[in-house]
Amino acid sequence: MTRLPQPRGRLTPDRPLSDLTWLRVGGPAEWLFQPADPKDLAEFLAALAPDIPVFPMGVGSNLIVRDGGMRGVVIRLGRGFNDIRIEGNRVIAGAAALDAHVARRAAEAGVDLTFLRTIPGSIGGAVRMNAGCYGAYVADHLIEARAVTRNGECLTLTPQELNFGYRHSDLPEDFVITEATFEGAAGAAEVLIARMEEQLARRDATQPTKDRSAGSTFRNPAGFSSTGRADDVHDLKAWKVIDDAGLRGARRGGAQMSEKHPNFLINTGGASATDLEGLGEEVRKRVFQNSGIALQWEIMRVGEPAPGESLQAD
Ligand SMILES: Cc1cc2nc3c(=O)[nH]c(=O)nc-3n(C[C@H](O)[C@H](O)[C@H](O)COP(=O)(O)OP(=O)(O)OC[C@H]3O[C@@H](n4cnc5c(N)ncnc54)[C@H](O)[C@@H]3O)c2cc1C
Repeated sequence: MTRLPQPRGRLTPDRPLSDLTWLRVGGPAEWLFQPADPKDLAEFLAALAPDIPVFPMGVGSNLIVRDGGMRGVVIRLGRGFNDIRIEGNRVIAGAAALDAHVARRAAEAGVDLTFLRTIPGSIGGAVRMNAGCYGAYVADHLIEARAVTRNGECLTLTPQELNFGYRHSDLPEDFVITEATFEGAAGAAEVLIARMEEQLARRDATQPTKDRSAGSTFRNPAGFSSTGRADDVHDLKAWKVIDDAGLRGARRGGAQMSEKHPNFLINTGGASATDLEGLGEEVRKRVFQNSGIALQWEIMRVGEPAPGESLQAD
């Protein structure tokens, strides 16, 4: 096995990742690194051979880790990266802090970051993905983010450098966000807390929040025209085109397109990553056959398929 630098934090070989993802699937990481603090992370990366791939993972709420697992080093931040500080209207949060905790702490201090309350990820994942909902995104509130590069350099990145788009930033895949500073409007704590309660209730009413999922499976198809005419371009909802193709509730092994919200791919119990990704690919194929719309994945699929596994529809 490859020799790795010895960090102060924990370095575990062949560590299963399924219990670290929301969908509860995925093979092992060749190495899982849980750094003690940013200095430990920077020193480890500076000493790590440049040909070893590195993947920073949050809490796995937007991931399908394939059944064959991940080569190289998966980095997961924990204690040492989850501090939350409030300075006036600014909130400085470690990358391992959960979005929901940051929203709650901010609200209690009278700072409006309520949009983070119903997003189940970590701050690192939120910055990378420009997470957002109810009309507000990380891009609207981020002042700066601290990151460690693949060669161990510590940087401060501006929103301009991150160049946010829909569920996207230009952050290189092997840069690790360690901390982010947000700014929110001032608001009365009780109003902000009531707004978050209302958002949670809205989610529970429309989404399978009790099931194992990774949120929206596909992006809403933008600017689609069924006639090809420029004056006929309209936005569509992914759940609707899946429903129209008769795929609400469709199954493959333990994977299912939710009956409650057909754009949620769920693990009903015992699904493999191949079941989940294979069902997603089957949905893409059948939606295309039904409507000519090519759905784009919003869930990230990472790692290697297990030997001999296939995504082909049965
Ligand atoms: C029920 C449910 C509802 C959801 N609703 C929403 C929603 O309303 N809006 C929304 O935007 N998303 C939503 N999501 C998707 C998901 O929560 C977000 O994309 C979230 O930001 C992912 O964060 P994470 O920590 O889980 O990242 P992961 O899923 O672990 O990783 C996602 C990406 O972020 C990168 N990443 C993670 N941490 C770091 C880090 N420290 N440094 C660098 N890169 C990092 C990973 O490399 C990967 O590229 C939902 C998911 C679920 C399960």
